[in-house]
Amino acid sequence: MAVDVPLTATLDYAWSGETLPHGTWVVASLGRRQVLGMVIQWDQMDSSSRFGDEVNATLPPEKIKPLGGPLIGFPAADPKWIGLMAFAARYYRRPFGTIAVGLLPKWLRDIKNHIPKKEGGRSNFDRLMDGLSEGVRTPTHNKDAENGTHRTGRRERDAFRIGLAQESEPPLNSDQSSALAAIAHPGIFVLHGVTGSGKTRVYTEAARRSIASDRQAQVLVMVPEIGLTPQLVGRFTQALPGVEIAVLHSEVTERERARLWLSAAFGRARLVIGTRLSIMTPMPYLSLIIVDEEHDHSYKQQEGMRYSARDLAVWRAQQLGTTLVLGSATPSAETWAQVQRRKYRYLALAHRATGEPAAPIELIDTLHDPAKEGLSERSRHAIAQVLADGGQALVFLNRRGYAPVLACASCGWSSRCSDCGVATVLHRPDRIGEVSSRSPLGQWRLQCHHCGNGSPVPRQCPDCGDLDLAPIGRGVQRLEDTLAAAFPSARILRIDRDTVRQGKALEAEIEKIQRHEVDIVVGTQMLAKGHDFARMRLVVVADADTQLINPDFRAPERLFSTLIQVAGRAGRHEQSGVAARVLIQTRYPQHRLYRYLLKQDVAGYARAELLDRETANLPPFSYMAAIRAAHRDEAKTRKLLRVLRDELQQFAAQHGWPVTAYGPVARYPEMQAGKWRGQIVLESSARPALHQLLAVAESWMAEHRDLDCHVDVDPVEV
Ligand code: ADP
Ligand code: ZN
Ligand code: ZN
Repeated sequence: MAVDVPLTATLDYAWSGETLPHGTWVVASLGRRQVLGMVIQWDQMDSSSRFGDEVNATLPPEKIKPLGGPLIGFPAADPKWIGLMAFAARYYRRPFGTIAVGLLPKWLRDIKNHIPKKEGGRSNFDRLMDGLSEGVRTPTHNKDAENGTHRTGRRERDAFRIGLAQESEPPLNSDQSSALAAIAHPGIFVLHGVTGSGKTRVYTEAARRSIASDRQAQVLVMVPEIGLTPQLVGRFTQALPGVEIAVLHSEVTERERARLWLSAAFGRARLVIGTRLSIMTPMPYLSLIIVDEEHDHSYKQQEGMRYSARDLAVWRAQQLGTTLVLGSATPSAETWAQVQRRKYRYLALAHRATGEPAAPIELIDTLHDPAKEGLSERSRHAIAQVLADGGQALVFLNRRGYAPVLACASCGWSSRCSDCGVATVLHRPDRIGEVSSRSPLGQWRLQCHHCGNGSPVPRQCPDCGDLDLAPIGRGVQRLEDTLAAAFPSARILRIDRDTVRQGKALEAEIEKIQRHEVDIVVGTQMLAKGHDFARMRLVVVADADTQLINPDFRAPERLFSTLIQVAGRAGRHEQSGVAARVLIQTRYPQHRLYRYLLKQDVAGYARAELLDRETANLPPFSYMAAIRAAHRDEAKTRKLLRVLRDELQQFAAQHGWPVTAYGPVARYPEMQAGKWRGQIVLESSARPALHQLLAVAESWMAEHRDLDCHVDVDPVEV
């Protein structure tokens, strides 16, 4: 039986009733608790060949607890889905039960919901099932929080209001048609489309065709962050009138999440749209998977089971022999490599669907045209011109807050988080919705962007007592001030996680931009994704250089992708005949990344990156796993990690496994919750060898529990 406990073993229970099929959900007792379990294996109690797991194999039969019994009405897990869970557990090295049971919606795991309050009564689950069987015919006029199921109606009108709906869709262009023709067949496809090339249209049309072609077919659409993509959900509801769509986002209630999960498991919801966790949704008739923005690191879960939803999507599509579409304007190096190896088929949408040429990118060398107060002369001039022409400008700076650090001019003290040791960011208090709020320094705060710790701004230097503390560098709040001073009559809107916390709020801000109620938008990454702004004629990237010197080998790829996305916001629907522009301020105009960016040569940049990775033997030319530890005592942790590294290296050598162990190195940030964090990294040309060595590492980890270790297979940030 699989239960959600952190043991590598499963547990044995006795049952004398009729044989329950594998995948049956049952009530099991665990200590004093009643928990949800799943039947995964049957053995005769009297059989001598009973092969239970190590933990229970020695238990005498009378010690084995009786099973509480099956949960009636709860659809048994199908073998394909169990296969996916088993693969995920094995590959990402987690106990099967913590995945198959532990990742179920919380409401379904709560046994109280399955047990009637009184004998012969009805459970919460029974009542949920009533609502479910009314199914498709029930119009959804639920409260917002319950509004996970979208059908055409209010949503469609919303979409219309924000200018997305078309009376009739324009005919597909030839690139879109050939992409759709290709993905009508099973296989893994990369849909490389420049921003605005009509990828979303391909997704919706592919989903429509798939659902129309088969009475049962289900489609899974994954997006990096659903709260921030209400427009995408709107497009699907519009394209699929009358189809039950389950949208799994963070704002639905637990009960609703359970209902949507069941609806997918029964094959009732034909389309599921969700973030990374949605890859785990049971969908018995799954016939098409779409992963939008496949390069996005949000597909990698960074705690618990550290899985990559994109990679699991590849596995799941192969298991089912179905179609997977990996869409992106900047496919990841991993994906490009698979195209080069002819494992994935490459489809391109090379031009904007609206026929507009991509806005040209220009570099501003800040050595010659310094970014005074964050903006160079040329940028200022360009903004002024766009405003004079009645257009809008977007100023991008991927740094929240007012200034990245507060420092003392006389002794060099700088603000740091006492827990993490990283610089704390100076924040001016914001009143949400207000364009530019000013308040006395006393209310300003220093905030740690890693752990969220906040503290008031000290009146004087904690080290030398000097009163002359000054903000160093610039965040979006400060840039907003620069813009307000330079363009006093312009309406400025700042968008970042401090002003916008939810999808709904973002939607409202985006509508403001679309209604031309703002002239200059200044903000972070949040703005970069997929939004359509008709009058955006200028994009200024204020400062992206810090990412160039990030030691993570994936940092440049990430920056390149962000800048391509941001640049794609300019001139999406140019009607005025005025050409749109993209200006990038940089100290390193010669950098390779900027050279490819100028040409907007995504494939060329990917080739160059891949060549580097191949030379350095980095993924995707090798496989990686990190073994991480955290402990108060840095010296001890380093020492033990060194011991582990050497043991693993020796073990690999003895067995002739091609694995190299590196480290230990500190992670970023080094400190968290008072513990020093370090890791060793294993790299190998052979996955099986790597996994075998991880098993060795795990037995070591079990003997060093105080080190708080975990394994991350295919880590994205190293
Ligand atoms: P992407 O998802 O690649 O950014 P979208 O699907 O959002 O692109 O399309 C960008 C814009 O082009 C949208 O306004 C969309 O309505 C329009 N569009 C899409 N396909 C076509 C087409 N075949 N002909 C004309 N316009 C199109
Ligand atoms: Zn000082
Ligand atoms: Zn911190």
